[in-house]
Amino acid sequence: MIKKGFLLVCAILLVACQPVQTNTAEPTATQTAQESSTPIVTSTSTALPPTVTPRPTETPEIFSVCCPLEDETFDSLPLILSKPLDIPPFGQDVGHHGVDYAYFSRGERESIQGVEVYAILSGSVVLTLENNYPYGYAVLVETQLAKFPQALQDALMTTYQPVPDDPGYRLYCPEVTPPQITGDYSVYHLYAHFENQPAFETGDPVNCGALFGTVGNTGYSSNPHLHLETRVGPSGAAFRTMAHYQNTATNEQMANYCLWRMSGFYQLFDPEILFSSSP
Ligand SMILES: [Zn+2]
Repeated sequence: MIKKGFLLVCAILLVACQPVQTNTAEPTATQTAQESSTPIVTSTSTALPPTVTPRPTETPEIFSVCCPLEDETFDSLPLILSKPLDIPPFGQDVGHHGVDYAYFSRGERESIQGVEVYAILSGSVVLTLENNYPYGYAVLVETQLAKFPQALQDALMTTYQPVPDDPGYRLYCPEVTPPQITGDYSVYHLYAHFENQPAFETGDPVNCGALFGTVGNTGYSSNPHLHLETRVGPSGAAFRTMAHYQNTATNEQMANYCLWRMSGFYQLFDPEILFSSSP
């Protein structure tokens, strides 16, 4: 009886403490009501909580944008923006392909090093990177544009320029294979310079707010910071790896680097567009 009671409490705790990022579906109103009204002590013959039959909800998945850094808000992010976006011309690797967040001292923290980094959108993992130049330990996630509210889709696509036939690469680029164009587009979000390699694999689903790792100083980085890079491009990007600027970089890594950053298929936008759209 003690064992059954213990198991019952454990089962209830598991239901109550399930982290947000592992939930794949929003609970229905019935489900929530049933969970909250589950009695703590019962004399049922099983230790499992009552089974809830999932019902299809009438509204599709709720779109949400999440703050990428621990202890920050959408309002505070601009205060720790250490390097803004600077979009280069196609074919060039100048400018700044994203936004950097950093600080040396903030509240009780002496550095941004070790601060948790979260997914800004739900999506699926395209790749995680080894500690190479320039991104260091990094993760790239795809979110289909169709999941965004129409106004945001429009805002993101109005700035999408025609992709050049020949971008005129001004960097050594081995043969770059263009992506398949199906007419579907996605938002890609890349998080770079983690302390450690994120424990995600290609194809893993991530929920908005999922923990990727902690801010570090790996790759081409002189101080700990989060480099957040957001782009719109054809859906289904399938890079397996990416690197440049080191003589250990392979042709595949360099070709993917050029495709991602310079080809014009994946076009940069300021993630502030997403943050300021969030209520
Ligand atoms: Zn950066």
